[in-house]
Amino acid sequence: MDGRKYVYMFTEGNAGMRNLLGGKGANLAEMTGLGLPVPRGFTVTTEACTKYYDDGKQIVPEIEEDIYLKLSNMENIVQKKFGDSNNPLLVSVRSGARVSMPGMMDTILNLGLNDTVVEGLAKLTNNERFAYDSYRRFIQMFSDVVMEIEKVKFEKILDAVKEENGAQYDTELNADNLKEVVKRYKELYKKEKGEEFPQDPRIQLMEAVKAVFRSWDNPRAIVYRRLNDIPGNWGTAVNVQEMVYGNMGNDSGTGVAFTRNPSTGERKLYGEFLMNAQGEDVVAGIRTPQSIEQLKDIMPDVYNEFVKVAGILENHFKDMQDMEFTIEKAKLFMLQTRNGKRTAQAALKVAVDLVAEGMINNEEALLKVDPKQLDQLLHPNFEPIALKAAKPVAKGLPASPGAATGKVYFYAEDTVNAVKNGVKDVILVRLETSPEDIEGMHVSKGILTGRGGMTSHAAVVARGMGTCCVAGCSEIKINEEEKYFIDKNGRKYVEGDYISLDGSTGNVYGERIPTVETTMSGDFAKLMGWADQVRKLKVRANADTPTDARTAIKFGAEGIGLCRTEHMFFEPDRIEPMREMIVAKTVEQRRKALDKLLPMQRSDFEGLFTEMKGYPVTIRLLDPPLHEFVPKEDEDIKALAADMGIEFSELKSMIEDLHEFNPMMGHRGCRLAVTYPEMAEMQTRAIIEAAINVNKGGMHVIPEIMIPLVGEVKELKFVKDIVVKTADEVIKNSGAELKYMVGTMIEIPRAALTADDIATEAEFFSFGTNDLTQMTYGFSRDDAGKFLDEYYNKKIFESDPFAKLDQTGVGKLVKMSVELGRKTRPDIKLGICGEHGGEPSSVEFCHTVGLNYVSCSPFRVPISRLAAAQAVVKEKKA
Ligand code: ADP
Ligand code: MG
Ligand code: MG
Repeated sequence: MDGRKYVYMFTEGNAGMRNLLGGKGANLAEMTGLGLPVPRGFTVTTEACTKYYDDGKQIVPEIEEDIYLKLSNMENIVQKKFGDSNNPLLVSVRSGARVSMPGMMDTILNLGLNDTVVEGLAKLTNNERFAYDSYRRFIQMFSDVVMEIEKVKFEKILDAVKEENGAQYDTELNADNLKEVVKRYKELYKKEKGEEFPQDPRIQLMEAVKAVFRSWDNPRAIVYRRLNDIPGNWGTAVNVQEMVYGNMGNDSGTGVAFTRNPSTGERKLYGEFLMNAQGEDVVAGIRTPQSIEQLKDIMPDVYNEFVKVAGILENHFKDMQDMEFTIEKAKLFMLQTRNGKRTAQAALKVAVDLVAEGMINNEEALLKVDPKQLDQLLHPNFEPIALKAAKPVAKGLPASPGAATGKVYFYAEDTVNAVKNGVKDVILVRLETSPEDIEGMHVSKGILTGRGGMTSHAAVVARGMGTCCVAGCSEIKINEEEKYFIDKNGRKYVEGDYISLDGSTGNVYGERIPTVETTMSGDFAKLMGWADQVRKLKVRANADTPTDARTAIKFGAEGIGLCRTEHMFFEPDRIEPMREMIVAKTVEQRRKALDKLLPMQRSDFEGLFTEMKGYPVTIRLLDPPLHEFVPKEDEDIKALAADMGIEFSELKSMIEDLHEFNPMMGHRGCRLAVTYPEMAEMQTRAIIEAAINVNKGGMHVIPEIMIPLVGEVKELKFVKDIVVKTADEVIKNSGAELKYMVGTMIEIPRAALTADDIATEAEFFSFGTNDLTQMTYGFSRDDAGKFLDEYYNKKIFESDPFAKLDQTGVGKLVKMSVELGRKTRPDIKLGICGEHGGEPSSVEFCHTVGLNYVSCSPFRVPISRLAAAQAVVKEKKA
């Protein structure tokens, strides 16, 4: 063996050993150490689980022996014997990973029972009913968890016996009835497995341990891990614990409780229990549980003791506890405690209250709120009672959080017109969206698409706008042309019908569900204030319009890290001159079109600068391939040709010429400015004139002009020279003074590799990690959705690299650019503007590699503020 210890008695562990013992095991050990009433037991470590997989899914004899050794320790302490029918020790076998994964892996109770031990137990306790109740439960759990025989098959038998005996509840079954249940369960087992139910307790035990190990890799667990960023190599521990019996009669029971209310955070014991019950009965809803306060009347002593224990645990762990307990013949036993899961609202209240109660300090409080959870508070939610009553009619991807209710429209134009005509709430339903739909998306309360993934156009744009979006909902059949869709039940929805979308779950409802807005005040504001004091990273927002900018400021942004100028060109009055510019044959024609665009751009920037009140604003020169702006339908091409006074066929062929095989790697970014310098001139002029204008009004704007998609310092220099020449001229002619900066995005691997050269020209870098991820992996973010699922299933990827920064590869490029850039230009300004700027683990990475700021969509600003603060606190603790 490798000299490692794979099995620990509860008395040998403590809460600090969570990685090795799992959360449940570590806390059982800690409670044991605190002298609380915890049944005896031991934990098989998470390392034993990983070893089990390394060894080809088997438990090596040494570990097996150690398990038996600890079992005999237990036998000596409790003076009972495993498998001995005169005085049997029964155990539970419980899984427990490092972090709790609720409902992921199942527990087996009453293990050690067989046909003779059950008789012995009946005699010993003088309670035959209890013995057979325990046995039937054990057979069912073992068969389900270990042998994978469906639970329902057992439930059917139980229901049948209940019915035959006129019993409504399982508690009404007597010993003979339960014997009958056991008999039929064993028959079922034999039918399913072709052999008798295993009678040897040692085999039962080892099979159960293996089943827990196996359950670590069941599909439910894999999905849960991906959604919650839990690495696949952590493994789960197994806890083997002496049984205490809540099913011994009316002086026994089992329950769960929180030290505070998990939905509101209110400081008051909150929980439920059931008398004469075991294990999951409380949550399974077989009978209606009683509220924890009622225990005060039924068993005042037990209740008082429980209140005392709850207080001890909360003080000890300095957080709200979620506890599981059992009462055996009026004696209290603690079976589990952990920091309780809670809603965002409760998380804020508990964190702030714990500081006020002097239990923790501000910095510790910051770690008590999951930044991702804040999302819940930044968007409208459904009115909870109405939501409960509603039934989803389809489900898609939860692409952008929030709740929306409104009338459906199938074309962006139709939503715009509907809103103009006074319809208040509209929802845009489309197969997929494209840049032309922006305005319609803007006026919509929610967006529903039939195709596309989490990084599809609809998803990305909706998240940026903070608009609720359900994407890739293939359960509905959309007919755009005839303006209707059909839900999974076959119901048809036409223009003007009400639906509701839940962007946090992906649920679609065929009805109107009222929504409620939330505010950023009270505990939220307080906690964010603490975060701002602690964090080192600045947090900016990606914002293209004054409206976005206002939202960003409201959420605490300290600048704009990315203003995408192209979004401004999709507005109806701008797309025309834009198109003229694109298809212009001569520089003069192009300049003429650009002259029309100049005042519009200038006023956009004035609006943005004014809104941002002197905070830094980074404006990116035109980036996307030009074909995105030109009409596709012949009808529209004809109209444009007429406007421009050219032949339809000529225009059509010009547009066809714009076609590219791989537009993401085509004529875009700074390449546009290299071919059409006058475009960069116009944009620079608009930016500089806008800054001068607003500065006249007493502001101190220092615009940051950003040149996209650079891979070679010479192309950067070429475009920069145009920018500088134009800017200096405008400034000189105006007679005003203005500082401005010119920098670049790092989004092509070659730029990262040559960042020292690039920094000779760039005054700042902004990591465009969407493109950088795309180009580093060599797959398109628009298509990755089609095969990523297979990558998760086959365990090649654990998460979507477009959502969570790949720190190993893409991160290495970022780190390298930081070092190379600073070598050339020590005061270079460094930030990130990809989607990752709003993802907590990526924000932490940005802090660690020493960026100056992160920039994210306005609605994620609070998330990044908190994540940036947590990065500092975690760093201090480490
Ligand atoms: P989960 O992780 O799903 O909560 P647990 O391992 O906590 O699963 O087990 C579920 C329930 O089973 C416990 O809350 C408790 O009621 C019961 N249970 C587990 N171990 C024992 C035991 N040794 N004695 C009595 N009941 C137990
Ligand atoms: Mg539990
Ligand atoms: Mg880019």
